[in-house]
Amino acid sequence: MSGFNYEKDANGIVTVTMDMAGPVNAMNDEFLPLLNNTIDALEAEEGLTGVVLTSAKSTFFAGGDLNVLSQATLENAEAFFEGVQTTKAALRRLEKLPVPVAAAINGAALGGGLELALSCHYRVAWDDRSVQIGFPEVTLGLLPGGGGVVKGIYLMGLMAAQEYLIEGKRVAPAKAQASGLIHETVSSLDELIPRAKAWVLENQDNEAARTQPWDTDGYKIPGGNANHPAIAQMLPVAAAMMRQKTRGLMPAPERILDVAVEAMRVDFETAMRIESRQFTTLACSPQAKNMINTFFFQMNKINGGASRPADVPPQVTKKVGVLGAGMMGQGIAYVSAMAGIEVVLKDISQEAADKGKAYSEKLLQKRVEKGRMAEEKAQSVLSLIKPTANNDDLAGCDLIIEAVFENMTLKHQITAELEGYLAEDGVWGSNTSTLPITQLAEGSSNPDNFIGIHFFSPVDKMPLVEIIMGEKTSDVALAKAFDYTKQIRKTPIVVNDSLGFFTSRTFGTYLDEGVRLLKEGVHPVKIDNLGKAVGMPVGPLAVYDEVSLELSRKANDTWKELGVEDKWGDGSIAREVVATMIGDYGRGGRHHGGGFYEYADDGSKAIWPKLLELYYRPEADLADSEVKDRLLFRQVIEALKCLQTGVLRTVADGNIGSIMGIGAPAWTGGLIQFVNTYGLQRFVDRCGELAERYGDRFEVPQIVHDKLAAGALFE
Ligand code: NAD
Repeated sequence: MSGFNYEKDANGIVTVTMDMAGPVNAMNDEFLPLLNNTIDALEAEEGLTGVVLTSAKSTFFAGGDLNVLSQATLENAEAFFEGVQTTKAALRRLEKLPVPVAAAINGAALGGGLELALSCHYRVAWDDRSVQIGFPEVTLGLLPGGGGVVKGIYLMGLMAAQEYLIEGKRVAPAKAQASGLIHETVSSLDELIPRAKAWVLENQDNEAARTQPWDTDGYKIPGGNANHPAIAQMLPVAAAMMRQKTRGLMPAPERILDVAVEAMRVDFETAMRIESRQFTTLACSPQAKNMINTFFFQMNKINGGASRPADVPPQVTKKVGVLGAGMMGQGIAYVSAMAGIEVVLKDISQEAADKGKAYSEKLLQKRVEKGRMAEEKAQSVLSLIKPTANNDDLAGCDLIIEAVFENMTLKHQITAELEGYLAEDGVWGSNTSTLPITQLAEGSSNPDNFIGIHFFSPVDKMPLVEIIMGEKTSDVALAKAFDYTKQIRKTPIVVNDSLGFFTSRTFGTYLDEGVRLLKEGVHPVKIDNLGKAVGMPVGPLAVYDEVSLELSRKANDTWKELGVEDKWGDGSIAREVVATMIGDYGRGGRHHGGGFYEYADDGSKAIWPKLLELYYRPEADLADSEVKDRLLFRQVIEALKCLQTGVLRTVADGNIGSIMGIGAPAWTGGLIQFVNTYGLQRFVDRCGELAERYGDRFEVPQIVHDKLAAGALFE
């Protein structure tokens, strides 16, 4: 039976083992009655000497129920706040029991799970990789509202608590012990409950041990309270630094700092109430709704295989061929070998292939130097990569990924030449970034088994892979590419074929709008700063330089040949600016000696002065809000068009793909989710204004009208 199992031993210690309905213990509707009933029983228990709280699940306790949290609105905020206070009151009862209470942490204790453990007087954890401890709330736009912020400050002090509360760091038990979050670790699971019980027995008569620090007279917060000169001096700086980091777009870190400071100023109970209020405010915020929706629910959907054909059995990749040991190929070889897959890395010469393998060697060496990997392990990863110029080495690959130059004829030619080396039912993947998969597959005698596997640069760091279905791509090929992506521990999104797929096409609008603003006379520094102010990692002109104007010109030449140059809208302004930059001034981008910016040897950069002369017109000044919306809305509109035309197969793929692949701002929850909390009607109206002022590229896609008419959101 699910619930809290209650078992008293001969010494009078009650072990409460949490085993709630469902896969994890969580703060849902079942939780509070269970906890309160258990405490009732403990309070009435005769001869009680102490309590051990543990879990029957593989995790200790999972924390707040996000389904409940995401229902908070301004209308029900007061009731929500009361609910938080009620939960806190139950946790308070636990820590006020007149006997020692120990948490035996057998698995992850994150967020609400850690708050539950902090309501025990003593915390022992199993020192195992599966046991993570921390407060990840901030990554969902929230704060730990069950006492986590206040208690975190009491236990660690403001400085040490920051990495947990504001950065959302999850740590291993040993580190949590060093930080003061837990008291002790044991090396095996078998020792856990005996150790917790032993502590209870040792401290039966020790009143101090069963009094929480925040209930102890004269307790001093580590590092001092808000009046301590070092803290008082640091506060304004910390607030300013945070503002710089969040760019004012993320309320959660700022609220956490607020609560933390209050915890050092006012009494414990008042601080707890302030924490509940701020938590309620955050739970109602659009940012938290966006982040919970996308980073939790949609991410789980994607990682759970929602975009993968369910009826195809798991496809394990054992031997992958990587064609082209250039920038992308060498990264693909590295991540594959890291996942234990045998890799054949082929280039046109042995020397070029060796150079590609040397890249892995360099990355592995760094890991060893940093103590993140043992030398033997690094050697065994490296030994999985065979650099070669010999086709025969590809024999028996169950997956071949080509990452040769971006050229249709070359790609057709190597497909025809090498697909025969694939194992039976082997799959051919292309890492093209701009060429339509269906057309590339025409070079294959087996287009069913041809699929796009689009990586992002740098491959070892970027978490996303965009899988592209050609017209004829089979479900088995999709399952193979999907499972391979999971094997190399990346997140797959699946999209249908179209020029630029989803990510490049949508990202392209950001670059295009940046260049249009430049051409209209807006100051380039203003354009890039406002791109960042929206939450994009880099301004459009700076990122254009990184991608390189050269590459954009080449891609355009290819599209021109294919007759699809302006398929997604008028690209003539960007073409003209790029032609001027490269043709007249030789400015092809960062790796071509500079582009919109000049790059100094010391790594700094500044706007290329001639750019101002060429384009800047002070009288063309636009309001910041116009520039910001233009840069963001272009991308949102393009993502919606991708959804409308079936390039995107799910909303989740669009949201996750936009954040992980093109750096869409986290606060939006992804380019499609943005519309849900911005408000569909408001979005239609704003698009109308922008379209009237700047052109029909801002016209709202029909799919938004359809959703509005149906009274639905994008889900
Ligand atoms: P690159 O120029 O760095 O590397 C290409 C490699 O392919 C070179 O080492 C070259 O010698 C090799 N090559 C050429 N012909 C070959 C052949 N017949 N057999 C074996 N090897 C051959 O290029 P890159 O940046 O790694 O891009 C490779 C592919 O990945 C392109 O299709 C590109 O569009 C795509 N891509 C690039 C990026 C990026 O950010 N650079 C991102 C996603 C996808």
